[in-house]
Amino acid sequence: MSNTILVRYDEIGTKGKNRPWFEDILLENIRRSLGNQATVRKFRGRIAVTPRSETHLGEVLRLLAFIPGISSYSPATHLPLETPWEDIVAAALPLADQAIAEGRTVFRVSCTRSNKRYPSTSPEVQKKLAAAVLTARDRCFSVSMTKHSFELEIEIAEDGIYLFAERRPGTLGLPVGCAGEVLTLLSGGIDSPVAAYLAMRRGARSHYISFHSPPYTTEESIKKLVDIARLLARYQGPGSKLIVVPFIDIQLLVTARCQESYRTILFRRLMFRIAEQVARSNGWKALVTGESLSQVASQTLENLTCINDAVEILPVLRPLITNEKKETIAIAQRIGTFDISIRPCPDSCTAFLPRHPITRGRVETVRAEERKLYPEIEDLFQRAIAEAEVFDV
Ligand code: ATP
Ligand code: MG
Repeated sequence: MSNTILVRYDEIGTKGKNRPWFEDILLENIRRSLGNQATVRKFRGRIAVTPRSETHLGEVLRLLAFIPGISSYSPATHLPLETPWEDIVAAALPLADQAIAEGRTVFRVSCTRSNKRYPSTSPEVQKKLAAAVLTARDRCFSVSMTKHSFELEIEIAEDGIYLFAERRPGTLGLPVGCAGEVLTLLSGGIDSPVAAYLAMRRGARSHYISFHSPPYTTEESIKKLVDIARLLARYQGPGSKLIVVPFIDIQLLVTARCQESYRTILFRRLMFRIAEQVARSNGWKALVTGESLSQVASQTLENLTCINDAVEILPVLRPLITNEKKETIAIAQRIGTFDISIRPCPDSCTAFLPRHPITRGRVETVRAEERKLYPEIEDLFQRAIAEAEVFDV
């Protein structure tokens, strides 16, 4: 029965002198996620997670799958370095028996030895353990180095011996927090939650901002965003903010004063301006959106130029910019946001959709259109920020 989980990371391993800093963030994120269900410690190149009791094992394994920075992990039997050989074999046999029960009978043994003080070399341990298992389970197994259906692994580390027969895939990427904090423009569609997740996987802790137009958007729309943000918390842990900004007065002003075909671009520019101000006042270092090149009229290169022009200094991360919609949907399904995103709900821009949106907007024109909103827009702007509702998720 496994008593420990051996956790691996790969990209952190490339970080040279900064590696301990990344490792400590990952360690802290694992501790936050597991709470008092397990103890967590690191040793050379690995992290070991020990569930408080057997009953916590399943939940701990489930939660580790969500934590960025982990490349793979294995439920393992942890034995002290001085364990007699017969006891190591005895600990390996239940793993072999399970493989036999599942009909996986072509096997190999692999050994990694980071602890060079251990008296036997990896090839010696491999051979010896394979022979011992074959003898103990006579005729049940054949051996193949390349066509195996069961791989028994033994890792000899600084702090003991680990036996395991399974590697579960982790989320990959880097630990959340190592890149700082960012602000995702969350619309309740399929794309923006995926964009937030991808930014998390590159180490950015995400907060969220969403623009609403009551009565066109409803309480149901806000609940949907809260549900998305809560679900995404399983990847980055709790402690982020969802800022819901009332946008209707700004939209009405744009609708009253500006060319209809430029409306959507103007809405986006004003959203970006508010988002940048909120982000900078909180020390958040980038905006994240779910924009994807050529997907809709507002996402042509010309219109992206018009929109980007409204941002002063922060980088705008667009993780989905070259994704196929199908690829984005597949990620949304895998991470669990898809079912929430497809709940039917009115969007803040739908009510004001222009009949003929411009597809190749010009920056000079959009700036001129925006100037028509002054001076009133400045007041509306500050009011929107002041009246925003903030949810802790
Ligand atoms: P999504 O599926 O995320 O809604 P989309 O494909 O529908 O994206 P658009 O609606 O054009 O594309 O929006 C592009 C991006 O602009 C969104 O991914 C989001 O980051 C941002 N955005 C759009 N509307 C809003 C809004 N009401 N509040 C916050 N962000 C928004
Ligand atoms: Mg949308």
